[in-house]
Amino acid sequence: MRGLGLLFLTLVSLEAFDYQLSPVKVTEDIYCFWGKPEMITKENGGNMVNSCFVKTEDSYVVIDSGPTYSYAKQAYEAMQKVASLPVNYVITTHAHDDHWLGNSFYKQQGALLIGPREYEQSIAGKTYSIKPEETRISQIVSKDAYEGTQIVALDKVVDQNLSRFKVGDIDFVLKQLVPKAHTISDLIVYLPQKKAIFTGDLVFNDRLTSMRDGSIIGNLKAIEIIDEFDADTIITGHGTRTDKHATEYQKAYQSQMKEKILEAIDEGVGLENITKVVPMEKYKNDAMYEELHKRNVLDAYSELEMYEGEEE
Ligand SMILES: [Zn+2]
Repeated sequence: MRGLGLLFLTLVSLEAFDYQLSPVKVTEDIYCFWGKPEMITKENGGNMVNSCFVKTEDSYVVIDSGPTYSYAKQAYEAMQKVASLPVNYVITTHAHDDHWLGNSFYKQQGALLIGPREYEQSIAGKTYSIKPEETRISQIVSKDAYEGTQIVALDKVVDQNLSRFKVGDIDFVLKQLVPKAHTISDLIVYLPQKKAIFTGDLVFNDRLTSMRDGSIIGNLKAIEIIDEFDADTIITGHGTRTDKHATEYQKAYQSQMKEKILEAIDEGVGLENITKVVPMEKYKNDAMYEELHKRNVLDAYSELEMYEGEEE
Protein backbone atom coordinates (compact mmCIF):
# COMPACT_ATOMS: atom_id res chain seq x y z
CA MET A 1 0.00 0.00 0.00
CA ARG A 2 2.71 2.42 1.06
CA GLY A 3 4.64 1.72 -2.13
CA LEU A 4 1.57 2.44 -4.23
CA GLY A 5 0.96 5.73 -2.41
CA LEU A 6 4.51 6.86 -3.05
CA LEU A 7 4.25 5.89 -6.69
CA PHE A 8 1.03 7.90 -7.00
CA LEU A 9 2.63 10.96 -5.38
CA THR A 10 5.60 10.74 -7.71
CA LEU A 11 3.38 10.52 -10.78
CA VAL A 12 1.33 13.55 -9.71
CA SER A 13 4.37 15.70 -9.05
CA LEU A 14 5.93 14.76 -12.39
CA GLU A 15 2.83 15.62 -14.34
CA ALA A 16 3.37 19.11 -15.81
CA PHE A 17 0.56 21.28 -17.15
CA ASP A 18 -0.06 20.12 -20.71
CA TYR A 19 -0.78 23.00 -23.13
CA GLN A 20 -1.49 20.56 -25.97
CA LEU A 21 0.28 22.81 -28.46
CA SER A 22 0.21 22.00 -32.10
CA PRO A 23 1.52 24.54 -34.63
CA VAL A 24 -0.64 25.68 -37.55
CA LYS A 25 1.09 26.61 -40.80
CA VAL A 26 -0.16 30.09 -41.78
CA THR A 27 1.88 30.48 -44.96
CA GLU A 28 5.27 29.31 -46.25
CA ASP A 29 7.74 29.30 -43.28
CA ILE A 30 5.29 30.94 -40.85
CA TYR A 31 3.56 28.95 -38.10
CA CYS A 32 1.45 29.84 -35.08
CA PHE A 33 0.11 28.28 -31.92
CA TRP A 34 -3.37 29.82 -31.59
CA GLY A 35 -4.59 30.92 -28.18
CA LYS A 36 -8.21 30.50 -27.09
CA PRO A 37 -10.62 33.50 -27.34
CA GLU A 38 -10.95 33.65 -23.53
CA MET A 39 -9.72 35.45 -20.39
CA ILE A 40 -6.68 33.99 -18.62
CA THR A 41 -7.92 31.08 -16.47
CA LYS A 42 -6.44 28.30 -14.36
CA GLU A 43 -7.82 25.83 -16.91
CA ASN A 44 -6.19 27.40 -19.98
CA GLY A 45 -2.90 28.19 -18.16
CA GLY A 46 -2.77 31.54 -19.96
CA ASN A 47 -3.04 29.93 -23.40
CA MET A 48 -5.27 32.68 -24.81
CA VAL A 49 -2.55 34.40 -26.84
CA ASN A 50 -0.93 33.69 -30.21
CA SER A 51 2.71 32.65 -30.27
CA CYS A 52 4.26 32.31 -33.73
CA PHE A 53 7.53 31.29 -35.30
CA VAL A 54 9.25 31.95 -38.61
CA LYS A 55 11.45 29.22 -40.07
CA THR A 56 14.64 30.52 -41.70
CA GLU A 57 17.53 28.56 -43.25
CA ASP A 58 19.37 28.04 -40.01
CA SER A 59 17.10 28.98 -37.13
CA TYR A 60 13.67 30.04 -35.89
CA VAL A 61 12.53 33.55 -34.98
CA VAL A 62 9.76 33.48 -32.37
CA ILE A 63 7.21 36.29 -32.20
CA ASP A 64 5.73 36.42 -28.68
CA SER A 65 6.89 33.62 -26.42
CA GLY A 66 3.57 32.96 -24.69
CA PRO A 67 2.30 32.97 -21.10
CA THR A 68 4.76 30.75 -19.14
CA TYR A 69 8.12 29.00 -19.19
CA SER A 70 6.45 25.60 -19.57
CA TYR A 71 4.33 26.88 -22.50
CA ALA A 72 7.51 28.05 -24.28
CA LYS A 73 9.26 24.74 -23.56
CA GLN A 74 6.33 22.77 -24.99
CA ALA A 75 6.12 25.11 -28.00
CA TYR A 76 9.84 24.60 -28.63
CA GLU A 77 9.42 20.81 -28.49
CA ALA A 78 6.54 21.03 -31.01
CA MET A 79 8.69 23.24 -33.29
CA GLN A 80 11.44 20.62 -33.34
CA LYS A 81 8.98 18.25 -35.02
CA VAL A 82 8.58 20.76 -37.89
CA ALA A 83 12.37 21.05 -38.28
CA SER A 84 15.23 20.56 -35.88
CA LEU A 85 16.43 24.18 -35.55
CA PRO A 86 17.51 26.47 -32.68
CA VAL A 87 15.56 29.61 -31.75
CA ASN A 88 18.03 32.47 -32.24
CA TYR A 89 15.70 35.47 -31.81
CA VAL A 90 12.57 36.14 -29.79
CA ILE A 91 10.59 39.31 -30.50
CA THR A 92 8.14 40.62 -27.87
CA THR A 93 5.40 42.77 -29.40
CA HIS A 94 4.35 44.60 -26.20
CA ALA A 95 4.53 44.57 -22.42
CA HIS A 96 1.37 42.53 -21.58
CA ASP A 97 2.57 39.43 -19.77
CA ASP A 98 0.63 36.79 -21.74
CA HIS A 99 2.95 37.65 -24.68
CA TRP A 100 6.41 37.31 -23.11
CA LEU A 101 6.53 35.15 -19.97
CA GLY A 102 8.07 32.37 -22.09
CA ASN A 103 11.16 34.57 -22.72
CA SER A 104 13.17 32.97 -19.89
CA PHE A 105 12.97 29.56 -21.57
CA TYR A 106 14.35 30.89 -24.86
CA LYS A 107 17.02 32.94 -23.08
CA GLN A 108 18.29 29.68 -21.54
CA GLN A 109 18.53 28.28 -25.06
CA GLY A 110 20.76 31.19 -26.06
CA ALA A 111 18.21 33.30 -27.98
CA LEU A 112 18.59 37.08 -28.36
CA LEU A 113 15.56 38.92 -26.95
CA ILE A 114 14.15 41.95 -28.77
CA GLY A 115 11.24 44.03 -27.53
CA PRO A 116 9.65 47.42 -26.83
CA ARG A 117 10.78 50.28 -24.59
CA GLU A 118 7.99 49.73 -22.05
CA TYR A 119 9.25 46.20 -21.35
CA GLU A 120 12.69 47.61 -20.54
CA GLN A 121 11.22 50.37 -18.39
CA SER A 122 8.54 48.56 -16.41
CA ILE A 123 9.40 44.84 -16.52
CA ALA A 124 13.12 44.23 -16.71
CA GLY A 125 16.02 46.52 -17.54
CA LYS A 126 19.74 46.59 -16.80
CA THR A 127 19.29 47.53 -13.16
CA TYR A 128 15.67 46.67 -12.44
CA SER A 129 13.30 43.72 -12.66
CA ILE A 130 9.87 42.81 -11.34
CA LYS A 131 9.57 39.44 -9.59
CA PRO A 132 7.97 36.44 -11.30
CA GLU A 133 5.25 36.35 -8.61
CA GLU A 134 4.25 39.95 -9.41
CA THR A 135 2.79 39.21 -12.85
CA ARG A 136 -0.92 38.99 -13.64
CA ILE A 137 -0.52 35.48 -15.10
CA SER A 138 1.12 34.20 -11.88
CA GLN A 139 -1.96 35.22 -9.88
CA ILE A 140 -4.28 33.11 -12.02
CA VAL A 141 -2.62 30.02 -13.50
CA SER A 142 -1.64 26.93 -11.48
CA LYS A 143 1.79 26.52 -9.86
CA ASP A 144 2.32 23.65 -12.23
CA ALA A 145 1.80 25.77 -15.33
CA TYR A 146 3.94 28.64 -13.96
CA GLU A 147 6.83 26.43 -12.77
CA GLY A 148 10.26 27.73 -13.82
CA THR A 149 9.01 31.09 -15.16
CA GLN A 150 11.55 33.88 -14.63
CA ILE A 151 11.71 37.53 -15.68
CA VAL A 152 14.55 38.31 -18.07
CA ALA A 153 15.78 41.58 -19.61
CA LEU A 154 15.81 42.29 -23.33
CA ASP A 155 19.04 42.29 -25.34
CA LYS A 156 17.77 44.93 -27.76
CA VAL A 157 15.06 47.58 -27.49
CA VAL A 158 13.10 48.84 -30.51
CA ASP A 159 11.07 52.06 -30.46
CA GLN A 160 9.74 54.49 -33.05
CA ASN A 161 13.00 54.23 -35.01
CA LEU A 162 12.67 51.46 -37.55
CA SER A 163 14.87 48.43 -36.91
CA ARG A 164 15.77 45.94 -39.63
CA PHE A 165 17.70 42.68 -39.52
CA LYS A 166 18.15 39.60 -41.64
CA VAL A 167 17.99 35.99 -40.51
CA GLY A 168 18.96 33.56 -43.25
CA ASP A 169 17.26 34.96 -46.36
CA ILE A 170 14.40 36.63 -44.52
CA ASP A 171 14.29 40.34 -43.62
CA PHE A 172 12.56 41.39 -40.40
CA VAL A 173 11.38 45.00 -40.06
CA LEU A 174 10.34 46.16 -36.58
CA LYS A 175 8.76 49.45 -35.59
CA GLN A 176 6.50 51.18 -33.11
CA LEU A 177 3.93 52.89 -35.37
CA VAL A 178 2.34 55.46 -33.04
CA PRO A 179 3.11 56.79 -29.52
CA LYS A 180 0.13 55.02 -27.88
CA ALA A 181 -2.27 52.46 -29.32
CA HIS A 182 -2.92 49.15 -27.51
CA THR A 183 -0.20 50.15 -25.01
CA ILE A 184 2.45 52.87 -24.93
CA SER A 185 4.83 50.69 -26.94
CA ASP A 186 3.51 48.21 -29.48
CA LEU A 187 5.81 46.74 -32.10
CA ILE A 188 4.83 45.41 -35.49
CA VAL A 189 7.01 42.86 -37.29
CA TYR A 190 6.94 43.04 -41.10
CA LEU A 191 8.45 40.44 -43.42
CA PRO A 192 8.68 42.15 -46.84
CA GLN A 193 9.63 39.00 -48.81
CA LYS A 194 6.67 37.16 -47.32
CA LYS A 195 4.26 40.11 -47.54
CA ALA A 196 3.35 39.22 -43.96
CA ILE A 197 2.86 41.42 -40.91
CA PHE A 198 2.59 40.51 -37.22
CA THR A 199 0.46 43.14 -35.50
CA GLY A 200 0.66 42.01 -31.87
CA ASP A 201 -2.37 43.32 -29.97
CA LEU A 202 -2.88 46.31 -32.27
CA VAL A 203 -5.41 43.94 -33.82
CA PHE A 204 -7.65 41.24 -32.33
CA ASN A 205 -9.88 38.75 -34.11
CA ASP A 206 -12.51 36.27 -32.91
CA ARG A 207 -12.97 38.36 -29.73
CA LEU A 208 -13.13 41.96 -28.54
CA THR A 209 -9.95 43.89 -27.84
CA SER A 210 -9.03 45.23 -24.41
CA MET A 211 -8.41 48.98 -24.38
CA ARG A 212 -7.40 49.46 -20.73
CA ASP A 213 -3.81 50.58 -21.40
CA GLY A 214 -4.32 52.13 -24.80
CA SER A 215 -5.85 54.83 -26.93
CA ILE A 216 -8.79 54.40 -29.29
CA ILE A 217 -7.51 57.20 -31.55
CA GLY A 218 -3.97 55.79 -31.56
CA ASN A 219 -5.20 52.24 -32.16
CA LEU A 220 -7.30 53.31 -35.16
CA LYS A 221 -4.32 55.23 -36.54
CA ALA A 222 -2.08 52.17 -36.09
CA ILE A 223 -4.60 49.98 -37.94
CA GLU A 224 -4.65 52.50 -40.79
CA ILE A 225 -0.85 52.25 -41.07
CA ILE A 226 -0.98 48.43 -40.88
CA ASP A 227 -3.42 48.44 -43.81
CA GLU A 228 -1.01 50.58 -45.81
CA PHE A 229 1.55 47.76 -45.71
CA ASP A 230 -0.90 45.95 -48.00
CA ALA A 231 0.27 42.59 -46.61
CA ASP A 232 -1.23 39.34 -47.88
CA THR A 233 -0.92 37.76 -44.44
CA ILE A 234 -1.85 39.63 -41.26
CA ILE A 235 -1.22 37.77 -38.02
CA THR A 236 -2.87 39.27 -34.95
CA GLY A 237 -2.08 38.95 -31.23
CA HIS A 238 -5.32 37.09 -30.56
CA GLY A 239 -7.57 35.33 -33.06
CA THR A 240 -7.03 33.03 -36.02
CA ARG A 241 -7.98 35.15 -39.03
CA THR A 242 -4.84 35.86 -41.11
CA ASP A 243 -5.97 37.06 -44.54
CA LYS A 244 -5.76 40.58 -46.06
CA HIS A 245 -8.95 41.55 -44.23
CA ALA A 246 -7.86 40.53 -40.75
CA THR A 247 -7.95 44.14 -39.48
CA GLU A 248 -11.58 44.76 -40.46
CA TYR A 249 -13.30 43.34 -37.39
CA GLN A 250 -11.49 45.53 -34.88
CA LYS A 251 -11.44 48.55 -37.18
CA ALA A 252 -15.24 48.39 -37.40
CA TYR A 253 -15.64 47.90 -33.64
CA GLN A 254 -13.39 50.81 -32.68
CA SER A 255 -14.54 53.24 -35.38
CA GLN A 256 -18.21 52.64 -34.57
CA MET A 257 -17.44 53.08 -30.89
CA LYS A 258 -15.60 56.34 -31.56
CA GLU A 259 -18.45 57.69 -33.68
CA LYS A 260 -21.17 56.75 -31.18
CA ILE A 261 -19.30 58.13 -28.19
CA LEU A 262 -18.54 61.44 -29.95
CA GLU A 263 -22.23 61.74 -30.83
CA ALA A 264 -23.20 61.05 -27.22
CA ILE A 265 -20.70 63.64 -25.94
CA ASP A 266 -22.27 66.17 -28.33
CA GLU A 267 -25.68 65.34 -26.88
CA GLY A 268 -24.36 65.87 -23.36
CA VAL A 269 -24.37 62.23 -22.19
CA GLY A 270 -22.23 61.89 -19.06
CA LEU A 271 -19.81 59.16 -18.01
CA GLU A 272 -22.48 57.59 -15.76
CA ASN A 273 -24.77 56.84 -18.71
CA ILE A 274 -22.37 56.23 -21.55
CA THR A 275 -22.31 52.40 -21.34
CA LYS A 276 -26.14 52.37 -21.62
CA VAL A 277 -26.05 54.62 -24.68
CA VAL A 278 -23.30 52.68 -26.47
CA PRO A 279 -24.20 48.98 -26.01
CA MET A 280 -23.16 48.07 -29.58
CA GLU A 281 -25.57 45.11 -29.62
CA LYS A 282 -24.06 43.75 -32.81
CA TYR A 283 -21.08 42.50 -30.79
CA LYS A 284 -23.12 41.10 -27.92
CA ASN A 285 -22.59 37.45 -28.78
CA ASP A 286 -18.89 37.86 -29.55
CA ALA A 287 -16.24 36.45 -27.26
CA MET A 288 -15.26 38.72 -24.34
CA TYR A 289 -18.15 41.17 -24.84
CA GLU A 290 -19.41 40.61 -21.27
CA GLU A 291 -15.96 40.95 -19.79
CA LEU A 292 -14.63 43.90 -21.80
CA HIS A 293 -17.14 46.00 -23.72
CA LYS A 294 -18.32 48.34 -20.93
CA ARG A 295 -14.79 48.94 -19.75
CA ASN A 296 -13.71 49.69 -23.34
CA VAL A 297 -16.52 52.26 -23.68
CA LEU A 298 -15.54 53.95 -20.40
CA ASP A 299 -11.88 54.13 -21.41
CA ALA A 300 -12.76 55.48 -24.87
CA TYR A 301 -15.14 58.05 -23.34
CA SER A 302 -12.45 59.44 -21.02
CA GLU A 303 -10.14 59.86 -23.97
CA LEU A 304 -12.70 61.24 -26.45
CA GLU A 305 -14.02 63.80 -23.97
CA MET A 306 -10.71 65.64 -24.44
CA TYR A 307 -10.48 64.94 -28.16
CA GLU A 308 -10.65 67.85 -30.57
CA GLY A 309 -10.60 66.09 -33.92
CA GLU A 310 -7.84 65.08 -36.31
CA GLU A 311 -4.80 67.31 -36.46
CA GLU A 312 -4.06 68.69 -39.85
ZN1 LIG B 1 -2.09 43.01 -24.99
